[in-house]
Amino acid sequence: MFCIKCGKEALKGNFCKNCFLEMNSLFEIGRGILYLCEMCNSYHMKKSKTTVEGFITGLVKTKNTLKSVMISRKEIGNRIIADVVCSGYISGIHKTERKRTTIIVKRHKCEDCIKISGNYHEAVIQARGENSDRILKKVSSMAEPQIVANISRASTGYDIRITSKRKASKIIQALMNKFDVKASYKLVGEKKGIKLYRNYYAVR
Ligand SMILES: [Zn+2]
Ligand SMILES: [Zn+2]
Repeated sequence: MFCIKCGKEALKGNFCKNCFLEMNSLFEIGRGILYLCEMCNSYHMKKSKTTVEGFITGLVKTKNTLKSVMISRKEIGNRIIADVVCSGYISGIHKTERKRTTIIVKRHKCEDCIKISGNYHEAVIQARGENSDRILKKVSSMAEPQIVANISRASTGYDIRITSKRKASKIIQALMNKFDVKASYKLVGEKKGIKLYRNYYAVR
């Protein structure tokens, strides 16, 4: 059998190795939009955090077996130009291929930053009584800075506003060993027909 394109010995169907590889792509690469938070400098896809490398790797689409993906990139204004070199196998034949893509970088404020700058909070830990300083210290040591919306003085202690109910309840679980905790809820509004409650934890 000979290659119907160039006449060399055929390797795959009616084609020689070179002609076969020329006609078949190892991978395709998509384009995309990345969001860069101008407050915390982190990159996001629609909702989730990502890195530039991780995002570009996610744009590589293939049905073949890739052995390696190498990315080099440069930033020009609000665009990232990425060269992606993949090597792998198409039907058992090795190929290395280079493709280029452009990613648009849009600046925004991410949800975490919006929550904090707007003093948004889902839970309030109320440190009260003679232990209030110890409680504040303990909460501050457990809560990552990006979930603490605000700390203010109250008559006999502190109000610590936490942006996430889930994280607040984790902190409370830990405090329960040492302190007395009373939980309550307040209706604070409604969003798309769902009632929104804020959790209050009085800790003594
Ligand atoms: Zn050929
Ligand atoms: Zn941010």
